[in-house]
Amino acid sequence: MSFLQHPLDHRPVIIGAGLAGLMAALDAAPQPVLLITAAPLGEGAASAWAQGGLAAAIGADDSIENHIADTLIAGDGICDARAVRDILGEAPGLIDKLSRLGARFDRSATGGIALGLEAGHSARRIVHAAGDASGREILRAVIAAAQATPSITILENVAARKLIVRDGKIAGVLAMRDNGEAVMIRTSRVVIATGGAGGMYAHTTNPAGAIGHGLMLAGEIGAELADLEFIQFHPTALATNADPMKLISEAVRGENAVLIDEAGNRFMAGMGRAELDPRDIVARRVWRHICAGHQVFLDARHCLGARFATKFPAITELCRAEGIDPVNEPIPVRPAAHYTMGGIATDLDGRTNIAGLWACGEAASTGLHGANRLASNSLLEAAVMGARVARDLAGTTATRAAPLATIDNPAKPDASAVRAIMSRHGFVLRDEAGLRTAISALLSLAQESANTAGPARLAAAMCVAMHARQESRGGHAREDFLEKSPAFAKRSVVTLEAALRDARAIAAGHARIQTGRAR
Ligand SMILES: Cc1cc2nc3c(=O)[nH]c(=O)nc-3n(C[C@H](O)[C@H](O)[C@H](O)COP(=O)(O)OP(=O)(O)OC[C@H]3O[C@@H](n4cnc5c(N)ncnc54)[C@H](O)[C@@H]3O)c2cc1C
Repeated sequence: MSFLQHPLDHRPVIIGAGLAGLMAALDAAPQPVLLITAAPLGEGAASAWAQGGLAAAIGADDSIENHIADTLIAGDGICDARAVRDILGEAPGLIDKLSRLGARFDRSATGGIALGLEAGHSARRIVHAAGDASGREILRAVIAAAQATPSITILENVAARKLIVRDGKIAGVLAMRDNGEAVMIRTSRVVIATGGAGGMYAHTTNPAGAIGHGLMLAGEIGAELADLEFIQFHPTALATNADPMKLISEAVRGENAVLIDEAGNRFMAGMGRAELDPRDIVARRVWRHICAGHQVFLDARHCLGARFATKFPAITELCRAEGIDPVNEPIPVRPAAHYTMGGIATDLDGRTNIAGLWACGEAASTGLHGANRLASNSLLEAAVMGARVARDLAGTTATRAAPLATIDNPAKPDASAVRAIMSRHGFVLRDEAGLRTAISALLSLAQESANTAGPARLAAAMCVAMHARQESRGGHAREDFLEKSPAFAKRSVVTLEAALRDARAIAAGHARIQTGRAR
């Protein structure tokens, strides 16, 4: 094991180089920070895969109040109102800031920023770039800015494996280089920006490494985790054997593409706003149709036809790579785990309940999204909260802890066995019996090997939260509790330890358990 030595020791360590981690590093300047990322820069980050864009109420016919109202509706009654107001209020300024950093947003014929429409938004407010390659362009600009900032030291291919705590405070990070060498970093300040946990499912649009590793790191040292039951399933992942699955953006439905089955039947016609209903509703309808033995396709032939390729160049490319021509044939789709609303519980400075530990981006849970994220609010949250964490860090000083002892190398987390269990029992539609089965299987898996223990423990905590919420709300749908219940109109917060205690009680068949506390 090597120890990083002065001058890198004692700097704040930011774990993860997606939009949240990079913005935290940039806004911390000129304070020196160490940014570590498990993959090469630009890879392994969901930020680079974002197609639709970033929501900001900058249109002449729009207002922050409207954006807030839409977000609260999508969040289905349990958004944190202050988080919604504060974060969305920073969106217009963020677009200017990202433009100054070099992001080239798409422009309209008159030269203003072009605004797209997505489901759940009452106005055109999706700021996009390079058509449907918005995330790639934003991350390109932000990476270039970070590389040009002398106060940011970037270590690529270095994965955090354990947080070291002394007297209840952060004292260091144990990380591994991809050549297997362990690196101990002494620091009293750590920011987790490791992205979401969609990779816990066999069917996901998330990068392979998005298995909630930041939640495991934080959970194992007693950080509170919030809203773990709320996973957003995207209704239109490209239905091939690719892993991760490719995404067919909601923006395609925004252009009036329709969902049909193998008989050409538009099975959602006449239901609410049909294809333009919120993501969770569409995902449930599509999944029910698939469970009833049908295949589902997204058909853009009549609304877009040949324009598909110019309107959605990246989606056209990914379809053609799978042998599907979206201009002339319907695109096979199915739901897939897409976004983690829950995460490490933070306040609006990104602080957790552990001294010296911050979290931001998809790894964190501020309460902005409630039970269901409004499309394109997540890049916004990642960038805004990354910057807020940096501002808060600026008011802190390093505590110089005594040298750390050598400890055993922690195992690399392996979620492969967890994924099948989660896709079977914790997917779009859940019920008591399935969740109980999943919890028992995950507890056994947690004993099997050091590599499976972390993902299995986190997945068990997620299933406990799904089991406890005896209602259907937002991204959480229970077949045995189809309605929303006022008794559950609140967020949930647990520690990993408490959730695992409940998991053992559920697996043992105890009727009453004590899960978490309301937030
Ligand atoms: C296909 C797709 C399309 C999307 N489209 C949109 C959209 O149009 N608009 C929108 O707002 N949102 C969209 N989202 C969601 C959005 O992209 C993410 O919520 C957001 O980018 C998360 O940013 P982040 O910085 O928190 O995490 P990420 O961008 O995922 O970055 C996580 C970083 O952490 C690193 N990491 C992970 N574990 C470790 C570890 N143990 N040690 C070190 N490094 C680690 C990763 O390598 C990566 O660098 C989309 C997501 C997907 C998957």
